[in-house]
Amino acid sequence: MKRVVSGIKPSGDLTIGNYLGAMKRWADNQHLDGYENFFFVANLHAITVKQDAGLLRKRTFDIVAWLLTVGVDPNKSVIFIQSMIPAHSEICWILNNYVTMGELAKMTQFKDKSLKSGKEGQFVGLYDYPVLMAGDVLLYDADEIPVGMDQTQHIELCKAIAQRFNNIHGETFKIPKATLSKTTAKIMSLNDATKKMSKSESADSFIGLDEDPDSIIKKFKRAVTDSDNKISFSKDKPEISNLLTIYSEFADKTFDEIEKEYEGKGYGVFKNDLGEIVSQKLKDIQKTFSEIRDDEERLKNVIAEGNSNAGIIANEKMNVVKGILGLA
Ligand code: ATP
Ligand code: MG
Repeated sequence: MKRVVSGIKPSGDLTIGNYLGAMKRWADNQHLDGYENFFFVANLHAITVKQDAGLLRKRTFDIVAWLLTVGVDPNKSVIFIQSMIPAHSEICWILNNYVTMGELAKMTQFKDKSLKSGKEGQFVGLYDYPVLMAGDVLLYDADEIPVGMDQTQHIELCKAIAQRFNNIHGETFKIPKATLSKTTAKIMSLNDATKKMSKSESADSFIGLDEDPDSIIKKFKRAVTDSDNKISFSKDKPEISNLLTIYSEFADKTFDEIEKEYEGKGYGVFKNDLGEIVSQKLKDIQKTFSEIRDDEERLKNVIAEGNSNAGIIANEKMNVVKGILGLA
């Protein structure tokens, strides 16, 4: 049996980047035989940036509801809340002793986010984020971690930490691997195709899963493109290639098909159609979301069951680790 583990932070409204790069893949791969799936709301990760408590709690439920909406099935996958399993915080403290400050300082996410927050915002939690993330994965003996490209550096560090621990104390942790989508591992910002789309960036840079059609259509219209006005996928046309990727996913068409369809037509027509397609699809999903989100009792039950199942595995691992270190 192989284990899949992955999480998502309640640090903003979910974007189509989160959906295409992570959540949709989690749902699509659930039926594969021989896999156990664990998906969690990474709320301890969210507080590495200041959060409003009420909003954080609301977004935690939102994420669980979105997971169910996109097809993550609680009968096939364990859905849980990171902060409700204390082993996550505990393992982080232990693993802190198997990673150097130099290794953490190299992490691009830390560099990006701490640059944004300035010196006053450079809290230790932000710096230590990858160690907590390593713990999230290692607690469950995960084989595969389906993530977006931005997380591969953290997974590499997780492997290094696990390897170091194993070398000193004997085989304790399974060495996991990141699994990436071939096409959607990095959906880019609508404002700047050198940056990935992120839910914690400015609202005009992303499309939110809960966004209304007018706003979606407007944002795609305003999305940056080159001056070539030719719809084709290529490395040196990152802006239109990003939009083509989104189109292809939402319309379920290949790049070839789309390029043919828009031969001789300009970016204006293409962007307008893209807005229509994405907003139609999201409108359908949003209807399901609001039904699922309304039933908070059911969400609480899903969470309670998930926490209980995940907690058993996490605590077992924690006991092994504490035993090895003479802590229990
Ligand atoms: P934040 O800006 O708060 O870090 P985020 O949008 O990066 O938010 P995360 O919660 O950090 O979202 O990531 C959740 C999952 O979504 C991860 O697996 C991450 O790799 C993936 N992901 C995030 N953004 C993208 C993107 N633009 N394209 C593909 N995958 C993405
Ligand atoms: Mg992120």
